[in-house]
Amino acid sequence: MGTKARELVGEHADKIVELLNRALADEWLAYYQYWIGSKVVKGPMKSAVEAELVQHAQDELRHADMLVMRILELGGTPILTPKKWFELTNCGYETPENPFVKKILEQNIKGEQCAIDVYNQIAKLTKEIDPVTYNLAVQIMTDEMEHEEDLQSLLEDLENMKFLK
Ligand code: FE
Ligand code: FE
Ligand code: MG
Repeated sequence: MGTKARELVGEHADKIVELLNRALADEWLAYYQYWIGSKVVKGPMKSAVEAELVQHAQDELRHADMLVMRILELGGTPILTPKKWFELTNCGYETPENPFVKKILEQNIKGEQCAIDVYNQIAKLTKEIDPVTYNLAVQIMTDEMEHEEDLQSLLEDLENMKFLK
């Protein structure tokens, strides 16, 4: 723990740790959703979509890392077992039962939109009381917005393919 780090956020530390752990559950579920999605995805533009999903999976894992570092600085305990992921998640998990590109993209767009809301909320709540967590939330939210846009433009390209015939 960072003694001074915890002291600076004072009475808010435990609440912030809880928010960060909920976001951590989301990041792991998002990581797996992207990673398994990249393996099973089928359909037109498959290789472009697969590459994007793999890259996003790596980003979600990096976000998980950033969250854990902050939880530890604040003297908290990060989620220690995957069993907690479904208990704490804000955004849930969309099972890619239908591997068609369009469906996979739509599921992940939904996840990104939820993630943007989550980090926007954390940013709002920490702005005045914990500038370091605020900065972390804004950094991650910036990535999630890029993810949303990447997936939406792939979906748009896919939908424009109908004009080829
Ligand atoms: Fe993320
Ligand atoms: Fe993302
Ligand atoms: Mg991307």
